[in-house]
Amino acid sequence: MKRYEQGSIPFEIEEFLELTSDAVVSLDYNLKIVSFNPAAELLFGYTFEEVSGKPLDLLIPEEFKDIHHSHVGKFKAEAKTARQMNTRSLVTGKTKDGGRLTLGISIHKHNAASTRRLTAICQNVSIGAVISNALASSESRLARAQTIAHIGNWEWDIVSGSLRWSDEIFRIFGLQPQEFEATYEAFLDIIHPEDRQRVSDAVNEAVENDTPYSIVHRLICPNGEEKVVQELGEILRDSHGNPLRMDGIVHDITKEWKIKEALLQATGEARKADEAKSRFLASMSHELRTPLNAVLGFAQVLKDDTTHPLSPDQVDRVGYIIDGGRHLLKLVNRTLDLARIEAGQMELLLDEVHANEVVEDCAAMLTPQARLQGVKIIDEFSTGPSAYLHTDQLRCNQILVNLLSNAIKYNHKSGTVTIRGHETNDGYLHLSVTDTGIGIPEKDYEHLFVMFHRIEMTDRPAVEGTGIGLAASKALVESLSGRIGFESEVGVGSTFWIELPLLSEEAGKL
Ligand code: ADP
Repeated sequence: MKRYEQGSIPFEIEEFLELTSDAVVSLDYNLKIVSFNPAAELLFGYTFEEVSGKPLDLLIPEEFKDIHHSHVGKFKAEAKTARQMNTRSLVTGKTKDGGRLTLGISIHKHNAASTRRLTAICQNVSIGAVISNALASSESRLARAQTIAHIGNWEWDIVSGSLRWSDEIFRIFGLQPQEFEATYEAFLDIIHPEDRQRVSDAVNEAVENDTPYSIVHRLICPNGEEKVVQELGEILRDSHGNPLRMDGIVHDITKEWKIKEALLQATGEARKADEAKSRFLASMSHELRTPLNAVLGFAQVLKDDTTHPLSPDQVDRVGYIIDGGRHLLKLVNRTLDLARIEAGQMELLLDEVHANEVVEDCAAMLTPQARLQGVKIIDEFSTGPSAYLHTDQLRCNQILVNLLSNAIKYNHKSGTVTIRGHETNDGYLHLSVTDTGIGIPEKDYEHLFVMFHRIEMTDRPAVEGTGIGLAASKALVESLSGRIGFESEVGVGSTFWIELPLLSEEAGKL
């Protein structure tokens, strides 16, 4: 028996009827079934042969037959040719084995003289069907979320030993579901041999001692690809504490792992390069100092030789050698110092330090230099209330001398350098050195503390310097757990400040 008469409908419609998941049932005007597609067979449980030519009543429960007939009668009589599913109330249908179906139905009538047909498209909206549809759609959403996040979930029935994986786990492990025998042992096989024992120990530990299961390990996929996954799991126990089931997730972190590894390697290499640089600088500086001291020493001997005195011209020339040599020695010494600080080789002697004394000493030390430049040092700090630091006095001295020396060097004639200080709320002493000098252009801010950086000055005679002082000061301040900064305005002046830890009450008692 043929489901559709030859040529009675276009082949596209025939294909649609065969493939759609909606049940489609056609009736003649006597309400006898003339067509019944595969989805209708599935829904009602009858084959087409069983229902062909039979009354529609076959598919309707006894108690609904009358009302149904009256509805169909009305529809046949009215002018409207179709009624949509969502504009009509639900209909109760009956399956071959007597079960009830709640159906949403669209109906259409074809009222030509040659063929008069009623066609119904039925969807099962019974609670079970709705739940299973909802379940299917939420499962597909979950699967999609798992694919996006590269996270799969597993359930391991500890009692029976069976294992269930979500599709994403198969994808992560590079397996086809049918290839994998879902047992714990088969799972261990996929783990990288060097990690297998660790994973198995972690699982045993979780099962026996109830410790959280959390582990990162490698896998070897069947195609040889190595992956890194993170696993987290939880044990479900019965009321006696016996393990029943373990639920867990597998997160594919291969990409993140590779990035982290590359970053670690790059950081390690950068650190090594930096250490090598500092070692090189330290040893170079050392190698340079010895011959340089010889040059300076013998130049001085030549200059001071009264037995064989030099001519005035020669004295001048030897003077240049000595000046150049001293400058070079200063440069070498500072480079060595900075290299030591950067290599962490500088020893610090942390002690109770009276900040007012340090500032007073530094100001006194630089007064002759300031006088030479016509600059006045105003010390507003050391005569004020005493402040005690927990720091290295020598290094603290060195930093202040650097800042004061710059404030004098980059100042105008008859300018001032003012030292101020106050305690901060977070336990530091804030010391500032303000000059009325040339100021610093904004474009140089970012390089100011970089070694050998000096600001080009075209409109002023060159100031002697090495470009090391600020870099060394910053390194020193940081090694003393302090902070350093500045504010500046071109033509008005600059304020460089440092903040060093105050002696706390606890430390003071020691
Ligand atoms: P140096 O003074 O030996 O050149 P520093 O590292 O101490 O090296 O300073 C770096 C540069 O910062 C200096 O060359 C100078 O251009 C600028 N600078 C530092 N202090 C001041 C200041 N108080 N006023 C203006 N410019 C300054």
